[in-house]
Amino acid sequence: MKAHDGLYIDGAWRPAESTDTIEVVNPADEQVIGRVPAGGALDVDTAVRAARAALPGWAATPPAERAARLATLRDALVARKDEIAETVTAELGAPEQFAQAVHAGLPIAVAGSYAELAAQHSFEERIGNSTVLHEPVGVVGAITPWNYPLHQIVAKVAPALAAGCTVVLKPAEDTPLTAQLFAEAVHEAGVPAGVFNLVTGLGPVAGQALAEHPGVDLVSFTGSTAVGRQIGATAGAAVKKVALELGGKSANVILPSADLAKAVNVGVANVMSNSGQTCSAWTRMLVQRDRYDEAVELARTAAAKYGDRIGPLVSAKQQARVRGYIEKGVAEGARLVVGGPESPREKGYFVSPTVFADVTPEMTIAQEEIFGPVLTILPYDDEEDALCIANGTVYGLAGAVWAGDESEAVAFARRLETGQVDINGGRFNPLAPFGGYKQSGVGRELGPHGLGEYLQTKSLQF
Ligand code: NAD
Repeated sequence: MKAHDGLYIDGAWRPAESTDTIEVVNPADEQVIGRVPAGGALDVDTAVRAARAALPGWAATPPAERAARLATLRDALVARKDEIAETVTAELGAPEQFAQAVHAGLPIAVAGSYAELAAQHSFEERIGNSTVLHEPVGVVGAITPWNYPLHQIVAKVAPALAAGCTVVLKPAEDTPLTAQLFAEAVHEAGVPAGVFNLVTGLGPVAGQALAEHPGVDLVSFTGSTAVGRQIGATAGAAVKKVALELGGKSANVILPSADLAKAVNVGVANVMSNSGQTCSAWTRMLVQRDRYDEAVELARTAAAKYGDRIGPLVSAKQQARVRGYIEKGVAEGARLVVGGPESPREKGYFVSPTVFADVTPEMTIAQEEIFGPVLTILPYDDEEDALCIANGTVYGLAGAVWAGDESEAVAFARRLETGQVDINGGRFNPLAPFGGYKQSGVGRELGPHGLGEYLQTKSLQF
């Protein structure tokens, strides 16, 4: 794997001040595949200064020109599609086909959507006797996780650049090679020096330095609720803007009138996708008691089919964490239907697709984000009970509702405390706002709502 030994700052790859490095490991075979700099506070400071210096020029660049750069960036990503997929497969462990379609395909679609939005968006409007200007927030500190390495980066950097902001990115330490590929594409797209900067490094070092830096106007973070809470507190103390995309424990509510086989099969596929490392995964399946046993059998068959086809988890740390949750599920009295805590292979951080039945709402596995291929199936008595269980966690990121009649499902979805709901399977929309209710976060990503996060308004009365 190609690995740069520098940081991308002010339009060039430069040696880091810090001499620390990060080893990148392939989670499928535990081999070291590269080494990148672990930037420190000094490196973050250099990058933030470069972003500040570039801000006035980029903010004043006409939106049509910013849109043109984003369109070229999209093309540069398209040209690297195979390399992106191979890199994500190597550092995250994603199966090849999924890496091509989702890990490379999705960010290309999102970059394209922001090229269009930057060209179409009204950065000025007239309200009564006021002209309202939508101006860039300033320098953005973007901190991203490893689960969708390129998508998480593009979902922040593309709208920020469209808005006229400049960016310092601190990607996850587990997947820095994909971030380096992105920096290459930005460079090739002719984005001016300093507009985008990359500092690879550790969360508590480079990440924290970026979140605390007084030269950063907005911190946009995706990751765990624990770190999000800390970043929110730091930003709050400095009265700095913050966007947080955190964990989830989404409910897949199968109403009695639904096509049960379809709802269960799609539901299992949703949870196993990306080895369960998806914040919006429907990890709690809610089924009415009369059809519960049938649903559990369908889920057993569907999950067993995944067998060897899912990739590993990203790291030994995540594997241990997920196995710990499976053990806790058993200890708290849930019934293991398929899978379990044993590692299915000798090498690599694999966890078997796992399904739990007889799960009660207060169990740990029904409340906490596991972030692995683990489905919990909970019975409910009636719709009110289903609603109470579905809304009964601290999270509210996504969810699904299935019913024989679409309007019945929509009526139920309106009562869910969550940021996004798929009706009868839904259909992915890269322009729809994505983000959380309750402790799943603050702010929205994607589409025009995502662009709005990077803008602030000024009104002129005359
Ligand atoms: P994390 O929150 O520790 O890491 C996410 C990003 O934050 C990384 O870039 C990391 O380097 C950085 N970071 C870590 N500590 C920081 C600090 N003190 N200051 C600033 N930045 C910091 O998440 P993780 O350990 O990689 O994963 C743990 C759990 O987080 C997962 O099991 C899962 O529940 C959740 N998670 C959620 C998402 C999501 O999309 N919502 C993505 C990844 C992980």
